[in-house]
Amino acid sequence: MEYKLNFELVPDSVWGSNLRSILKPSMWDVVRRDAYARAHGRCMICGKSAKRLEAHERWDYNLQTHTQTLVDVVGICHDCHQVIHIGRTQLVGDIDRAIDHFLKVNNCTYPDYVKALKQANLLHQERNKVGEWALDLSWLKRFT
Ligand SMILES: [Zn+2]
Repeated sequence: MEYKLNFELVPDSVWGSNLRSILKPSMWDVVRRDAYARAHGRCMICGKSAKRLEAHERWDYNLQTHTQTLVDVVGICHDCHQVIHIGRTQLVGDIDRAIDHFLKVNNCTYPDYVKALKQANLLHQERNKVGEWALDLSWLKRFT
């Protein structure tokens, strides 16, 4: 089942769970503003119009080559961001609100949510078996 809004669980041993810690502040600003510009005031995942968008980094994790590749930075709403990082939301966020948002955006049921979370956790475990990820930031070349 392909959902519009998915969990993106970041492996425990990664270089860049946070581009902000890799890029100089001025560069991160450029990347982030580009994402907001492309969003045109709407969440790039659920389409909700939002006054304040958040920049979310999308990574591809290749289990064969042990490479994590930056594939996009998108402007999204706070609710979608809370769903994407559901592990953190379970600890410090509003989990009920996140679940409601997942169900609404994906037009699915609570059992679907549970199933999707289970799959995401399995994938997370697979990725955690990789000791060290190589980092591919070639996506950023567009800004230079
Ligand atoms: Zn959204």
